[in-house]
Amino acid sequence: MLQCTAYTEIPEIDALVALTVMEGGPDQPPDALAFGNFLMCELGEHDDQAEHAAQLWTAEIPAMRDLWLFWTDTGTYRFAELPPCPATAHADSVTRAQACMFYVGHCAHHSWQVTDPLDELLSERARAEVQRIWDTRGET
Ligand SMILES: [Zn+2]
Ligand SMILES: [Zn+2]
Repeated sequence: MLQCTAYTEIPEIDALVALTVMEGGPDQPPDALAFGNFLMCELGEHDDQAEHAAQLWTAEIPAMRDLWLFWTDTGTYRFAELPPCPATAHADSVTRAQACMFYVGHCAHHSWQVTDPLDELLSERARAEVQRIWDTRGET
C-alpha cells in the first residue's frame, strides 16, 4: 500500500512546547525541529475520517513514548505521546524481524506494509542515473 501524501506545516511554537514538556524529550527542543518546517503523513493511505500522523520525536529509551503530531484536512492539530505499535513483521526470524514504526492503535497498515512513493521515485531516478554514468563510461 502507498503512503498517504498529506503534509503539514509544523506549528512551531506548540511543537516546541510539546517537545519541552515531554519526558525523554530532546535536550535542545529547537534542534529537534531543525530538519525543516514540514512533516509528511507517515501512515499508509487512509480514509478522511482518520487523522494524519507524523512522528516528531522518537524517545531514546525503548518502551517510552514517542511524540506524534496529528492533523486533519480541516486544519486542526494536536500532539500526543504514544507508545510504539507492538506489532512485528517476521517475529519468528531474528534477521528479518521488523518492528512497526507507528504508534499503538494506528489506522490502516503497519509501517512495513507502506511504501513511500517518493522513495520509490528517487531510487528509480538513482538507478537511471547510475545506468547513465555506466553507459557514458563505456563510451570513453
Ligand atoms: Zn495521512
Ligand atoms: Zn503497527
